[in-house]
Amino acid sequence: MLFTTKLSSQFSETQLPGEPYSDLIFDKHMATYDKILCHSLYSNLESETTVIIQTKAYLPFGVNGVTYDLGNSTFLIQLAHQSKNIDRWWTLLHEWAHVYQFDLGKLEEPVNGPIKWMGLPNDFSKPWSERPWELDADSIANNLWDVHLSYINKPEGRPRR
Ligand SMILES: [Zn+2]
Repeated sequence: MLFTTKLSSQFSETQLPGEPYSDLIFDKHMATYDKILCHSLYSNLESETTVIIQTKAYLPFGVNGVTYDLGNSTFLIQLAHQSKNIDRWWTLLHEWAHVYQFDLGKLEEPVNGPIKWMGLPNDFSKPWSERPWELDADSIANNLWDVHLSYINKPEGRPRR
């Protein structure tokens, strides 16, 4: 009995550096508020997941964010530099929405196969505004904004419909 008590108190006091957020990895440019937002978004995930977020990534012109399923429940979000907070937050929420889609199996990115939405290969010939996985991500981003940033106006024209 004494041993059990001693052991449990020992565990509760022991934390590794970076805990309890060791499965969220940020690059050095990530703004503090954005990190706090990500900790809340991380807690919505269904399964044990590692999310790596790179800000100020070099992305093709006009692309603000990309999310990759790296396999083994590990995801990489890359964000282009956006100086306006509300634009950056919208992109961040939209990319997190893709992580949720991957996490729930709605969006799939197999190593040797086509990216799939709801079990069917993604049709990239459709314009962005007609891609169901993007419309769904914008809808999720919209809901996340209402929950986490309700006191701030959304960027002009968001969500895209
Ligand atoms: Zn997207």
